[in-house]
Amino acid sequence: MRADYHIHSNFSVDSKLEMEEIVLKSIELGLDEICFTDHVDYDVKNHIVDKQEVDYPEFFREYYRVKSLYEDKINIKIGLEFGVQTHTIPRYVEDMKKYDVDFVLLSCHQIDNKELWLNQYQEGKSQIEYNRGYYEYLLKIVNEFSDFSVMGHLDVIKRYDPNGILDDEYVIDLIESLLKKVIEMGKGIEVNTSSYRYNLPDLTPSTRILKLYYDLGGRILTMGSDTHRIEQLKDHFEEIILQLKAIGFDELYTFDKMVAKPYKI
Ligand SMILES: [Zn+2]
Ligand SMILES: [Zn+2]
Repeated sequence: MRADYHIHSNFSVDSKLEMEEIVLKSIELGLDEICFTDHVDYDVKNHIVDKQEVDYPEFFREYYRVKSLYEDKINIKIGLEFGVQTHTIPRYVEDMKKYDVDFVLLSCHQIDNKELWLNQYQEGKSQIEYNRGYYEYLLKIVNEFSDFSVMGHLDVIKRYDPNGILDDEYVIDLIESLLKKVIEMGKGIEVNTSSYRYNLPDLTPSTRILKLYYDLGGRILTMGSDTHRIEQLKDHFEEIILQLKAIGFDELYTFDKMVAKPYKI
């Protein structure tokens, strides 16, 4: 079975893809299941977008329309990618009381309203400072917030590091605490297959982090392409599955109404 659990439709400000177009391409690619994970990043302040929020009623309406058309050909789930900051946690808690979704990616895109991808957070800090700062911030979030399924692109800071990639060695203590906490909470992490298109030398998260997660007993792992363009669906899945098998993983997970369910790979 193959499932892509990180897909942005045009309900995300940075994607123009219609849900229906995504579903049709997914069927063509032989995917058995997909999950839409559109962006909700509250309190985003940058010069490119002034809002990064899903229009919930429209999002659900279009999801159910497309699902009813194609449910005999592919499983289609509804999820969200929350770009959580400590001060926006109450808004996500409210959303999760109001809306029923299958799956939530917990991601960190901004810290104190400073964007990682624009290097606003990194500016004025040493490489070790902003890398450790990022993982310390994630730890704070998981200590206060539990309305999620898996942590998205755990070492995403590497994608936006103006000084190259810092070796995991400098942050492995924080990552270990984070993974232990996630496992204890019954949550998981994702392998984000966009690492190839970002020309990263390793997987996202890195093989070392995935191994550590496995050795600590972590098994809940989803696979997602982080699609923003149609050709990115199911991006490098087969190569990455081989690498996951080499670590020891023989199952990946889907989610149904926030409940994890394993499937063989
Ligand atoms: Zn993200
Ligand atoms: Zn994403």
